[in-house]
Amino acid sequence: MKKKVVIIGAGPAGLFYAYELSKSNKFEVIVLDRGRNVDNRKCPLEIRGFCENCTPCNVLHGTGGSGCLSDGILNLRPDIGGDLEELTGDTKKAFKLVEKVDSIFLNHGAPKKILTGEPEMIEDLQRKAEAAGIRFIQIPQRHIGSDYTPVVINSIKKYLETKDVKFILLADVKKIEKNQNNYVTFYSKKNELYKIESEFLIAAPGRAGSPFLMSQIKKLGLETEHKPVDIGVRVEVPKVVMKPVIEVNRDPKFHIYSKTYDDFVRTFCTNHEGYVMKEQYDEYVGVNGHSMRDIKSQNSNFAFLSKVTLTSPVEDTTSYGISIAKIATLLGGGKPLIQRFGDLRRGRRSTPERIRRSNIKPTLLSTTPGDIAMALPYRLVTNLIESLERLDNVLPGVGSDSTLLYAPEIKSYGLKVIVDSSMESNLPNLFVAGDGVGLSRDIVNSAATGILAAEGILKKES
Ligand SMILES: Cc1cc2nc3c(=O)[nH]c(=O)nc-3n(C[C@H](O)[C@H](O)[C@H](O)COP(=O)(O)OP(=O)(O)OC[C@H]3O[C@@H](n4cnc5c(N)ncnc54)[C@H](O)[C@@H]3O)c2cc1C
Repeated sequence: MKKKVVIIGAGPAGLFYAYELSKSNKFEVIVLDRGRNVDNRKCPLEIRGFCENCTPCNVLHGTGGSGCLSDGILNLRPDIGGDLEELTGDTKKAFKLVEKVDSIFLNHGAPKKILTGEPEMIEDLQRKAEAAGIRFIQIPQRHIGSDYTPVVINSIKKYLETKDVKFILLADVKKIEKNQNNYVTFYSKKNELYKIESEFLIAAPGRAGSPFLMSQIKKLGLETEHKPVDIGVRVEVPKVVMKPVIEVNRDPKFHIYSKTYDDFVRTFCTNHEGYVMKEQYDEYVGVNGHSMRDIKSQNSNFAFLSKVTLTSPVEDTTSYGISIAKIATLLGGGKPLIQRFGDLRRGRRSTPERIRRSNIKPTLLSTTPGDIAMALPYRLVTNLIESLERLDNVLPGVGSDSTLLYAPEIKSYGLKVIVDSSMESNLPNLFVAGDGVGLSRDIVNSAATGILAAEGILKKES
């Protein structure tokens, strides 16, 4: 008889886990996700800046996970968006995993072209960055585009269905219990409560599902440790400002140590000719960005984040990040805050009138002009102002008064589940993968942790 495996989360981690496991016919694989199917995950009004506040949020939930409506930039390095070398303890294996994830995306329709600049252009950018005391990290990337990512995800899902993987969508996991031998997963669908008993459980809830699911699993005795949280803003500039660097790298990563506090600040998730978008969490809002291959805006945006680590007496970086997100949401009246960089620098609020007068037209309209310094702590605001001014030496124009900042942008990978190299937790047969359990921060790395977890089960059952 086949052993039952329940996967919570149909994001890259859950899907690639199912993909690897489906090579064996020893398992009955069931994927639960609280979101919708790819074809029903539409967020068209968001492009024009209005959010329908779908429940569950189509940006974050459903087949393909939060990666599904994303820009679909595949960072083809094991040390960006996670640390596969540390997880596997094997550099060769880490690179092989990236290749494996990439080849699956390619088989399902990701574009063949790899984005990387000419060597002289890369060197020139590196020189400029070094002169400004900034580290530029060159990464080979593949760009699927928000408009094609759903097509690729659909192809993966259809392939999995031919392998008898069963998807139960709009299935919100409410509780997890353990009996003598098995895990029992309770989920609600259309107001009915169901349960599935399985020999193996894999938790891949992504960032949005993390707090709830982790609390469930922690009750069972899961061992975890706190990791840093990244807190900051989404920066939006005219596309011409980013163009020179985009020609070198589609999603350029700059690492900066701030002048006053010596804190780590980084750029992340650049969307050239893209759109800023709202993320709707249960109790707060956040911002993110996406760009499409066929529909372009006149702007570019990127996340600008300052890393926070807490030690004593509180280590809980996740709660810290969420508290800040809640303050920003409160100040924005339920919408993200928007502010011109010049207003933040001068310690004054942006008003609708000031935003209207700005050289840049915001791509996210459902926002509240306000003062980000009222929501983010002084230390973080100082880090962001100083570092954006420094980045202006490499990307002239990003430090302009009219640059738009949206808040809160929070990447909370705060709680990491302690796992072995097979992604198995201290609870036997409970495997974890992806962003929600602190093991990754991007599509490729989350998918790779899913593959590692599947390899773990296959090894255990061989
Ligand atoms: C707008 C946006 C743009 C992005 N752009 C990029 C990019 O270009 N490149 C890149 O590498 N990364 C990008 N990212 C990040 C990337 O999407 C994530 O790193 C990746 O999707 C994480 O994969 P995951 O499987 O761990 O989690 P997720 O993709 O978040 O998937 C988790 C799934 O679990 C489900 N779930 C959670 N809780 C429950 C529950 N209780 N019951 C049932 N189901 C549940 C959710 O509905 C979700 O579908 C972007 C993210 C966003 C939001």
